[in-house]
Amino acid sequence: MPWIKQEMCTGCGICVAECPVDAISQEGNDYAVINESECIRCGQCHDACPQEAVRHDGERVPQEVAANLQWVRKLLEHFQEPEKQVAFMQRMMRFFNKQKKVNEQTIDAIKAAQNDPVGSIDAAIRDLN
Ligand code: SF4
Ligand code: SF4
Repeated sequence: MPWIKQEMCTGCGICVAECPVDAISQEGNDYAVINESECIRCGQCHDACPQEAVRHDGERVPQEVAANLQWVRKLLEHFQEPEKQVAFMQRMMRFFNKQKKVNEQTIDAIKAAQNDPVGSIDAAIRDLN
């Protein structure tokens, strides 16, 4: 999902007017904010912003990895013995590997649906259920 880098945003409001689902609001005249739950990921705000303040999701990968590691670190506090900590780390690897597989298979299904997106996605959902 796109996000707005506050220090680059002039609060001009162009993206607010462009958003087709009113997912962007302004904090006074200072900067705009995207409401994650409303955003449909169309990218129009990114294309419209004259300041390049609307940034790509990929730029946040390091922060998301850090958030995952903070979560793992917090859960580790429940395990005092080294062998239990190691066993827990193995479980976390299995958890993130499962997430990886889900993401990879989702990407494959989306790739395969390029010619008939709605029909192909519906068929894939039927096949998986
Ligand atoms: S990506 Fe589209 S829906 Fe999301 S905030 Fe930007 S203009 Fe709105
Ligand atoms: S168009 Fe760009 S500079 Fe203007 S309010 Fe939106 S994010 Fe900020």
